[in-house]
Amino acid sequence: MEAIHKTDLLIIGAGFSGMSAALFAANRNVNAVVAGGAGGFEYSSGLLDLWGLSLTQKGRITKKPWAMLEKLSRQEPGHPLARIQRKTIQQAFSELTAALKHQGLTYAGYERKNTLVMTPFGTLRPTFRLTPAMRSNAEAVAAREPCLILDFKGLREFSAVFVREMMKKAWKGLRAETLEFPETRLQREVFTPFLARSLETEQVQEKFLTLIRSAVKDETWVGLPAVLGIHSSEKILDRLQAESGLRIFEIPTSPVSVPGIRLKEALMRALDNTSVTLFQNRRVTEVNALPKGGFHCRLDSDIQPVIVHAKAVLLATGRFLSRGLYADREKVHESLLGLPVWQPESRDQWHQQAYFDPAGHRINRAGIETDAFLRPVGPDKRPVHETLFAAGTLLAHQDWIRSRCGSGLSIATAFKAMESYLQIRPGLC
Ligand SMILES: Cc1cc2nc3c(=O)[nH]c(=O)nc-3n(C[C@H](O)[C@H](O)[C@H](O)COP(=O)(O)OP(=O)(O)OC[C@H]3O[C@@H](n4cnc5c(N)ncnc54)[C@H](O)[C@@H]3O)c2cc1C
Repeated sequence: MEAIHKTDLLIIGAGFSGMSAALFAANRNVNAVVAGGAGGFEYSSGLLDLWGLSLTQKGRITKKPWAMLEKLSRQEPGHPLARIQRKTIQQAFSELTAALKHQGLTYAGYERKNTLVMTPFGTLRPTFRLTPAMRSNAEAVAAREPCLILDFKGLREFSAVFVREMMKKAWKGLRAETLEFPETRLQREVFTPFLARSLETEQVQEKFLTLIRSAVKDETWVGLPAVLGIHSSEKILDRLQAESGLRIFEIPTSPVSVPGIRLKEALMRALDNTSVTLFQNRRVTEVNALPKGGFHCRLDSDIQPVIVHAKAVLLATGRFLSRGLYADREKVHESLLGLPVWQPESRDQWHQQAYFDPAGHRINRAGIETDAFLRPVGPDKRPVHETLFAAGTLLAHQDWIRSRCGSGLSIATAFKAMESYLQIRPGLC
């Protein structure tokens, strides 16, 4: 037996763009349903990038995201971020970070510039908004004072020695050490989410403090993989710093990423007791536009499928990995509604000859084209449906990995789609 759910807006996809849209909907008391998998959260560093690629020096990073976005609007006016005003992008970031702060996750950064953060590869990468433990990372990099980098026995995804070796030319006072994380003696392999959850208890924090104190020599800074808790990361950082007298910072790790999990869980908490219902990990298998307006949609489940009647739909289904797009030998397709996909004319134009070509591969710019309201358009450039919107990495004319704008793209387009929905909605009531 199917359950029936009526809503004003169905958001399909619970990655960063879908969850941001859900949060913006909740803040505006919009009756909405969000359904889908968690997308890139668990892979993401948890750093909120706005724009990190220089458009003046090929292949270089930039510390000036706004200047680059201005340049982008002249060079690539079809880029989704070039089509959204700076004021709107700023509003989107402010609203999202305010909600995260309310959930105990404080994101901050400079008004105008990116911050440079140390990565697990011993390189520096730019980002726009970051948590306190990552801000300390950037401060440590800037200070270059004696610093101990730690890793833990059985942890494969992060090596303190590797970081030291990569950075030692520019940072003389770096030392690396491997410690046994409290209460992991019997484990041959440990994982960052497990360590982070165990650090939530005071008992483990006590043992961890003793461990750090015994490892430090003349260092004032201690860097470690991102494991400082999931829900109370800021309290844990404060306590460890206050009781050790050290400056402690986190370094992002490769997936599965604790800061990404913190971000996802904070957004989920922000939706509790709001106008938005979350159907987590439910796949939408059918979306049918009804002749009288609105959509009839089906959410699959082994236990009880749900039929959702929605007045509007926001598609935030991501790209190939998330199955928002798929490709056969000839063409790229949109998976759910068969929407037209902007793409290179033929398959031999998908990729450049050189894998690391600084121009990037054209296939990465394939996606859904929209009108100014972020409504998918057909070949005639008219909206396919009056109340169908799209947001996030599904959109055409952007290469978010190369330009390091994943979060910025997701947050700004989700915000813009919500504004558009509110503008168009009066006609639906
Ligand atoms: C490896 C990796 C590292 C990243 N690192 C960073 C970083 O350091 N900084 C940064 O700013 N950004 C980073 N990002 C990008 C950031 O997470 C993006 O903003 C995000 O991945 C894009 O969000 P999205 O919601 O558009 O798509 P996705 O995250 O791909 O989410 C789309 C979701 O839609 C779901 N979906 C698809 N089809 C359906 C359907 N039919 N029914 C229901 N659900 C469906 C998918 O399951 C998926 O969960 C990273 C992403 C990845 C993958």
